[in-house]
Amino acid sequence: MNFRELEEKLVEFRDARGWAKYHTPKNLAISAAVELGELLEHFQWESDGEILEAVKDPAKREAIADEIADVVIYLTLLAHELGIDLDEALKLKLRKNGEKYPAPERPP
Ligand SMILES: [Mg+2]
Repeated sequence: MNFRELEEKLVEFRDARGWAKYHTPKNLAISAAVELGELLEHFQWESDGEILEAVKDPAKREAIADEIADVVIYLTLLAHELGIDLDEALKLKLRKNGEKYPAPERPP
């Protein structure tokens, strides 16, 4: 599924529930940040090693995956409301990053 397909599914889901009126750009940006905070709660006070160990537990892994999905969902809806094509935006941004940070001939 690409972002265009995800966007269509999300808009259909929210429109079927009458939630569009709440999905202003500001509310969606705040919601993405709130969900990112929920993701960070899983990592607070944990070392990288502890986090990698924790995600071996299927329930913990699913809880973290849910929060990542929530962030992606709100950002996809935000892009929709702003008329931004995420597939195109990601391609363009990757190209810009490649130009800004060219890979060395030999990786370090
Ligand atoms: Mg959440």
